Amino acid sequence: MHRYQVPSNPCQTTVLRRMCMSSLLTASLLASVPAQAKNVIFFLGDGMGISTVTAARIFAGQAQGANGEEYSLAFDKFPNLALIKTYNSNAQVPDSAGTVTALVTGEKTRIGVLGINASVERDDCANALKNTLPTLAEMAEQAGMATGVISTARITHATPAGLYAHTPNRNWESSASTPNEAEALGCYDIARQLVEMPHGDGLDVILGGGRREFLPAQTADPEYPSRSGLRDDGRNLIDEWLAADNNRQYAWQGDTFAQWLAAPEAQSGQLMGLFEPSHMQYEADRAKDPGKEPSLKAMTALAVKQLAGREEGYFLLVEAGRIDHAHHFSNAYRALADTVALSDAVQWAVENVDLQETLILVTADHSHTMTISGYPRRGNPILGVVETEPGKPTLDAQGNPYTTLSYANGPGYKKRPPNFSDMDPQNPNYQQLSTVPLPSETHAGEDVAAFAIGVNADAVRGVMEQNRLFKVMHDALLQR
Ligand SMILES: [Zn+2]
Repeated sequence: MHRYQVPSNPCQTTVLRRMCMSSLLTASLLASVPAQAKNVIFFLGDGMGISTVTAARIFAGQAQGANGEEYSLAFDKFPNLALIKTYNSNAQVPDSAGTVTALVTGEKTRIGVLGINASVERDDCANALKNTLPTLAEMAEQAGMATGVISTARITHATPAGLYAHTPNRNWESSASTPNEAEALGCYDIARQLVEMPHGDGLDVILGGGRREFLPAQTADPEYPSRSGLRDDGRNLIDEWLAADNNRQYAWQGDTFAQWLAAPEAQSGQLMGLFEPSHMQYEADRAKDPGKEPSLKAMTALAVKQLAGREEGYFLLVEAGRIDHAHHFSNAYRALADTVALSDAVQWAVENVDLQETLILVTADHSHTMTISGYPRRGNPILGVVETEPGKPTLDAQGNPYTTLSYANGPGYKKRPPNFSDMDPQNPNYQQLSTVPLPSETHAGEDVAAFAIGVNADAVRGVMEQNRLFKVMHDALLQR
């Protein structure tokens, strides 16, 4: 017959109300407010799926004479991990443009577009202009923070462009590839959006490839004089960027970069280094570059040197952009070497930034179709044929040896059946076999990993939608 009574609440007494309110508030703040970071370094391995991480770990360990399976990449040692769901708003298997938009704006969007929401169809300039999404780099600039972008791909390629560009087509990298009708409506090319970035004073450190997107078609490339710029509007965006501020410096040569890096103090103004007309070299080919282009680790070190002086903190994106390209070519060697180069850059950061005030996040935008299979013995060369005992290859149903690494699709189908007398599978140029014949291997749709260390790293856990990683970085950096 008695109705359930709500327990009496001590906070309802006048005397205690004030104290209770403040302690409840404190408790809720402790539960919901993320730790505040001064800086965020966001490392992105383009196409660095989990099988790539595993294979690169073995590859790196074997390069040091070990079996390899037990080896750890720099981010393998991070305390916080999550699985990340990478799909785009309209694609089960995503591309880098839709995924970077999720990562740096907090909203999933369509495949192939940058910095605009999912309501806009690809190529729809008029609607793109009305549906832009602010990016983490823009927000950081507006908050007075320092910002930087590094990529081994063209700096106008999808992932780095995600920080500063808003466009209904990721391929509109220069005026030549942007339709005149779109330009007439106000949809400008990605290179132009970089040098005209209206937020704060624009990105403070810009290091990567892609000079041709900034240079007019009449201008010869300084490193490869037989090549020229791509722009059809006659503008030299590098000269324009320099002219806008006397303190800015630009380099295309590794020697100038090395001077900046070796100088005892940071350079006083903003820096741009564009080291190749298109993408930078793969790590495996970098030593042969005529312009002596820098490593991802060295670029990370220069960027941190430049950005760390800012009282308000900094946001830096470091992309290993060519893991993806090597996979598209079914060339596992270069994909793994570029993954190890990313690990080296991450290791540098872990050793040289203060993790009490910095969040380091490492993830991939999407996976690739490479798989690690068969029953190779412990320590079997990761690029080699499957052997249960040295010198005794396991044979497939047609009597042929096969490699541990292969692809679900891609150009490697041309190598079927495998003829290892033509090329050893451990040759850096070897293209692994693929099952479905395609001219270019595709991305894969399974989850990728995210690895975090430092301030607010414990927010990276469980199975997360990709756009939630934006919130982890944003809450750490900008919720003050
Ligand atoms: Zn790709």
